[in-house]
Amino acid sequence: MSAERAVARIDLGAIRHNVGVMSRAAGGARLMAVVKAAGYGHGAVPAARAALSGGASCLGVATVTEAEELRGAGIDAPILILGPLTGGEWGRAAASGAEVTAWTPEGVRRAAAAGPSAPGVHLKLDTGMGRLGARPEDIAALVEAAAATGEHIRVAGLMTHFATSDDTAGENASFMSEQLVRFRSAVAAIRGRFPGAVVHAANSAATLRDPSAAFDMVRCGISIYGCSPFGGDPSEHGLRPAMSWTSYLASVKTLRSRESVGYGRVWRAARGTRVGLVPVGYADGYARCLSPAGAQVLAGGRRVPVIGTISMDQLTVDLGPEGAETVGEEVVLIGARGPERITAEDVAAWRGTINYEVTCAVGPRIPRVHEG
Ligand SMILES: *Cc1c(COP(=O)(O)O)cnc(C)c1O
Repeated sequence: MSAERAVARIDLGAIRHNVGVMSRAAGGARLMAVVKAAGYGHGAVPAARAALSGGASCLGVATVTEAEELRGAGIDAPILILGPLTGGEWGRAAASGAEVTAWTPEGVRRAAAAGPSAPGVHLKLDTGMGRLGARPEDIAALVEAAAATGEHIRVAGLMTHFATSDDTAGENASFMSEQLVRFRSAVAAIRGRFPGAVVHAANSAATLRDPSAAFDMVRCGISIYGCSPFGGDPSEHGLRPAMSWTSYLASVKTLRSRESVGYGRVWRAARGTRVGLVPVGYADGYARCLSPAGAQVLAGGRRVPVIGTISMDQLTVDLGPEGAETVGEEVVLIGARGPERITAEDVAAWRGTINYEVTCAVGPRIPRVHEG
């Protein structure tokens, strides 16, 4: 039994291994390890260090605060802020020595305003994602603005982002190649203006799917944590899940037939059975919708159903009439025990979402223990 109520163990060796897998898939292109959102719930600083020691050459974050956190921990690798910045954040980005993303002439001028300490700028092109990025008709103005800011701006990258790289079967299966064609031709037209700019487009799914999308660098997030960007079994790609989330049985009792468990009495015993209480709830990121969706956990290495209403701090499981597990027994919410395992992809499927949201949701109340 763990000394903690619940804990998320993060296998740093797995992150190093996964960076190696993705670097090989990228066929020699550089790898940016994306550690935004607290390293997708794994802890940004330890994940960043593990990824760098596994061969990543730089880091990607979403916000300036995330860049500052990495710098505050003494990480001096190149960092790119992928998201938009507000007024004062441009100066903070420059002060933290992070590179920034710009897609309008205004953004380029904001970056250049930091003068000699202006950050490197990655020009983002919208080739079909429809979010951030210059549309084809606006690229010329963006390029002229970047060129006009002269010595105070260094265009460090040319980038785009795919909308459907994880969609290999649906009607969107060919949209990634359309985006690739648009990006290639836009880059060919402007690359000569910015010698030395690193060209990058691929996220994890694109890296695994099409080596020709790697260009000079790939930006990998979900895969370095050992989750499949396609939502399937990560081991199919040689990826090793880094996170395991465990708790324990804090109470075990025998209920008689027709007795109920939890708020609203939504679950009632069909027969006498052993019911275990796990002190983890939706406030920890174990979503309330998981129980009616048929979620399971491992208790004593056995798959058992989550029953009743998941509450803020607690959930309950049906150990069955013969259930021999007793108070203190380990419960695995995500991870392996013996031959059985529950992946973030399993939890995502029950929850009707993607694995990204599952690991990001593991709450701040769950301590992260970094190992390896
Ligand atoms: C988050 C992010 C990534 C990483 O995507 P994964 O699917 O997690 O590999 C890459 N590029 C940009 C612009 C992102 O915002």
